[in-house]
Amino acid sequence: MDSQTNIHISVHPPPLHNGVYAPLTSHVLEEVLEERDSGKPPSVQSQPSFRKTPHKEKRFKGIPASPGIVIGQAVTFVVEPITIKQTLIEPERIPAEIGRFHHAVEECTAELHRTITMANDEAPVAAPILEAQLFMLNDPSVGAMVTEYIQRQYSADHAVQDVFDSQQAIMRHASDAYLRERAADLEHVKQRLLNFLANRNLATPEIAEGSIVISESLTPSEVMFFRKSGMAAFATESSGITSHAAILARSMAMPSVVGLANVCKRIHTGTQLIIDGFAGIIITHPQAETLERYERRQQDLENKLRKLGKYAFLPSETLDGRKVHLFANADSPEEIEMARASGAEGIGLIRTELQLLERQIMPSEDEQTAFYKDLAERAYPLPITLRAFDIGSDKSFGLIGHEPNPALGLRGLRFLLKNRALFTAQIRAILRASCHRNVRVMLPMITTVQEFQKALSLIEGCKATLRGNGEDFDENIPIGAMIETPAAALIARELSAMADFFSIGTNDLTQYTLAADRMNAGVTTIFDTFHPAILRLLSMTIEAAQHRNIPVAVCGEFASHAAATELLIGMGVSELSVAHTSLLDIKKRIRKVNFSNTKILSAEALTLGTSSEVRKYLISGSR
Ligand code: PEP
Ligand code: MG
Repeated sequence: MDSQTNIHISVHPPPLHNGVYAPLTSHVLEEVLEERDSGKPPSVQSQPSFRKTPHKEKRFKGIPASPGIVIGQAVTFVVEPITIKQTLIEPERIPAEIGRFHHAVEECTAELHRTITMANDEAPVAAPILEAQLFMLNDPSVGAMVTEYIQRQYSADHAVQDVFDSQQAIMRHASDAYLRERAADLEHVKQRLLNFLANRNLATPEIAEGSIVISESLTPSEVMFFRKSGMAAFATESSGITSHAAILARSMAMPSVVGLANVCKRIHTGTQLIIDGFAGIIITHPQAETLERYERRQQDLENKLRKLGKYAFLPSETLDGRKVHLFANADSPEEIEMARASGAEGIGLIRTELQLLERQIMPSEDEQTAFYKDLAERAYPLPITLRAFDIGSDKSFGLIGHEPNPALGLRGLRFLLKNRALFTAQIRAILRASCHRNVRVMLPMITTVQEFQKALSLIEGCKATLRGNGEDFDENIPIGAMIETPAAALIARELSAMADFFSIGTNDLTQYTLAADRMNAGVTTIFDTFHPAILRLLSMTIEAAQHRNIPVAVCGEFASHAAATELLIGMGVSELSVAHTSLLDIKKRIRKVNFSNTKILSAEALTLGTSSEVRKYLISGSR
């Protein structure tokens, strides 16, 4: 490589034989690609001949794989594909060729062991991944297949390629996304072996501190080595958010975006860029105001993390070890971002009907799928709870004609069951967005067992259609019942036999139990969730859930009420879902109490006859 080229890149030693950096301008890269296409060896030596033109800001949309924002310079890492030259051998070479294969396996094994040792110190989550690769590398049945191939006079390189490719093809057709991802592991193992057989150097090159690596895909070892030499973030063309590179990135809190088609050809080493691991985008040549906006966001995130301090990532559990899962309610993609930064363990409520607020027409199934998938990917690997449209009452969106008393009319599940095409499209969209297995679905405004049964059979029908179309979705998607009417709480035993989880909507539960409109300022003193009637309904619901051993969450505003935390923990709630802004306070409170004491406190509170007695008792701890 010439010194001129070095100016364009942030790579210290010269590039390697196998991992060739593209320290290039677009013009040079195009030349290289043309050369490659014409079968000539690639070159990175050519001198760029181009007129300097101001670069335009460009955005590339991918899939968010690990949250965070980094502003830095690109290092484009292109791995040369290996072409196998000699495929057939003379019979007398067979033993030597088998020996060459075994030697390559030994060398690769030794190299993997070295990487595992490093992983144990730097990124423990990577060690089992690498061990799985070690297992694949030394799998005796694969070894026997390769040997058999060589005995049929194929070169070791050819044999490795064919055997690994056929194993991968089987995995690629698996219906399970996780298994499909494992095909990528086999590819990494194959590449390693082929590199050794071709005497290629496998060391990962040094890069400048703060670089953003752009690559077709990255192996777990490449992620680790690049990080060691200064990688701050990465973006890949391959798309798995369950890929090991993505899993590693999340565990190391390294922002990353995957699924960016053709970026290696379009982004060159040295390009200034912003990687937004929350939204899954990268921006090249950012304009001054984009840079400022992102610098502000980086600052905000840092401030937030500093303010949250140690609490953000401390476990949400009581002093005596009772786990209370702390989730966040989110009404926008940005709130998922904030929830994650605040250490939420998942998203407990997405009010999907809010996407209808600014629209004149109902989004199509495909549009909904894209929207839900984006939300699910932003939350991944954390679980996200998509509530089916809660249309009706004060949110009719022109879909319901005049009703004399809309809060008691066609709302939530009642409306959905009367508008089956709309309901079916939404459920199908939610199912299609569940392909990464982190989506839960929740049904609002239930009053009867039959309603819930009808919804379950509609969901089963949607699954059958998707199955028939060969679409990937979560067969075991958890289906939850919202307990937000007195009827639902009173039949919680029956509902718990059919639901995978409960989520208590205390806003509506209070409105319907106390017959006090939650929007009517004239009855705010009556609208009081500390009313003994609500406490008793809560207790019945929690007991029913415990009886069936299903999780029970509270996602209404009561979950973030300062005086309610101990009460709800003591009653046995397993999950609280609150606004991300309240998460830290609630966690502090959870970590300060003893579960055994909260049980006594809630049992006592349940014996009281008025809201004011309950409040007084909870605040002062005495009757
Ligand atoms: C509730 O009723 O408590 C709830 C969480 O749902 P929403 O506020 O959307 O009615
Ligand atoms: Mg509600």
